[in-house]
Amino acid sequence: MDIQTNLRKVLSDIPPHVMLIAVSKTKPADMIQAAYDAGQRDFGENKAQDMAAKFPQLPQDIHWHFIGHLQTNKVKYIAPFVSLIHAADSLKILKEINKQAKKHDRVIDCLLEFHIAAEESKFGLSMETAEDILQSDEYKQLQNIRICGVMGMATYTDDTEQIREEFRHLKSIFNKLKDSSFKEAGYFKEISMGMSGDYPIAIEEGATIVRVGSKIFGARG
Ligand SMILES: *Cc1c(COP(=O)(O)O)cnc(C)c1O
Repeated sequence: MDIQTNLRKVLSDIPPHVMLIAVSKTKPADMIQAAYDAGQRDFGENKAQDMAAKFPQLPQDIHWHFIGHLQTNKVKYIAPFVSLIHAADSLKILKEINKQAKKHDRVIDCLLEFHIAAEESKFGLSMETAEDILQSDEYKQLQNIRICGVMGMATYTDDTEQIREEFRHLKSIFNKLKDSSFKEAGYFKEISMGMSGDYPIAIEEGATIVRVGSKIFGARG
């Protein structure tokens, strides 16, 4: 398992306008360092305490992406340094992120997570709920968060047409929001979709960020 070779292989599939996040969840700091030494700077974690534990062990110019479901009582662990929170899916979590960001005198970038898969999931917004949030006075008062785009996960299936349809759906959600709530917002430009099994399809359907773990670091135990 050569991380640098894997990383180069994945990067060769990705056009320059798409950002690769190396998903390092469950992997130790030395594996992250190996990818860093090959030039990778953006890493993804899905547990707040794990990310907070790795942060001081690794170079300070790493951009840390929080890609999992974030509980309100965990935001404080990552608020000082997180680069982008990918899976904001309620007004409650946006308010907590805003509160913690304010404590550290910063603005935290977030993506709204949408439920696009056929699988049942507790997580991810519907368009209707997202619009309710974005039109609420409470949301409009949040000065320490910035919503930079959308995120989603396709169904875990071999049916590539289904996966493609789900990514298209996320892209259409992005376009609708871009034309409504984020008309003047140049920073609203990210579509985070695609993992080891489906990132080439995601790129064809307009991903600006892909999140790839096992194809770089190997299968998780
Ligand atoms: C684990 C994870 C990934 C990466 O998955 P791989 O299949 O290992 O590439 C991407 N996105 C999210 C939200 C994840 O939890």
